[in-house]
Amino acid sequence: MAWKTFPLRVTGIEMITPTIVCLSFRRDDGEPFEFIAGQFINIHFEADGQPVHRSYSIANPPGSDDIAVAVSPVKDGRATKLLFGLEVGDVVDASGPYGRFVLRDDEPCRYIMAATGTGVTPYRAMLPLIEQRLDEGFTVEILLGIWRREEALFARDFEEFCSTREGANFHACYSREMPDDAHPWEKNGYVQLHVAALDPQPANDIVYLCGNPNMIDEAMEMLKAREFPTRQLRREKYLPARS
Ligand SMILES: Cc1cc2nc3c(=O)[nH]c(=O)nc-3n(C[C@H](O)[C@H](O)[C@H](O)COP(=O)(O)OP(=O)(O)OC[C@H]3O[C@@H](n4cnc5c(N)ncnc54)[C@H](O)[C@@H]3O)c2cc1C
Repeated sequence: MAWKTFPLRVTGIEMITPTIVCLSFRRDDGEPFEFIAGQFINIHFEADGQPVHRSYSIANPPGSDDIAVAVSPVKDGRATKLLFGLEVGDVVDASGPYGRFVLRDDEPCRYIMAATGTGVTPYRAMLPLIEQRLDEGFTVEILLGIWRREEALFARDFEEFCSTREGANFHACYSREMPDDAHPWEKNGYVQLHVAALDPQPANDIVYLCGNPNMIDEAMEMLKAREFPTRQLRREKYLPARS
């Protein structure tokens, strides 16, 4: 496949947890970059003399020239090596945007948006749209699954958003280590268990799932047993690349 790539220049690098880096980019060819909240880009590079690409969800809302992605390191990962070695001013090849993991024209309902790790970034990009939906009578539950508090990327953004808006709740779900001083929005256990605890119902809910494929499969199984139609289940699996 011939990809239509464009150059992205690194404009910012921030470690947002002890292991996850948030990289900010701008197009370096002067062209605008338009996307829908929830979409991803591909980063293209060479590894062992072969062209490869990796996908990353866009973590900021549309409406500016910025493109931010949050990258979680993978041991011996080829993109991991490239992306964690970048410096401000470096240029990488990218393509996109891609993906249909976006908000659709739904009737007011409860959105249950669950993620593991960097899978929460599409929901961060959606926050302004979610705000509009709250005004239209929707409600939203945003659930982030990570091992422990220090890995809760963008938790402050979600907590601030949800604590100041009617009908929005944030849950940070820790599968390995619960802090002694936990806030009410911090929960113990796997994120999919907390999705189930919300008692999802096809009559009222639309469920978004993003990140770890095992989490998504387990949640899908539970939701299908509850007779959710496919159109009310939206998912983005962060599957490892084949090359
Ligand atoms: C639509 C989409 C969106 C994505 N968005 C993001 C994002 O926003 N942030 C982000 O960090 N990642 C995201 N990913 C995953 C990302 O594209 C890469 O797969 C990831 O960064 C690893 O690439 P790598 O080249 O470093 O590792 P590779 O060189 O591909 O893998 C190295 C080794 O680790 C294994 N491996 C790869 N991934 C994992 C894993 N998750 N767990 C355990 N073993 C693994 C591989 O099988 C291989 O053996 C997304 C994936 C998809 C499909």
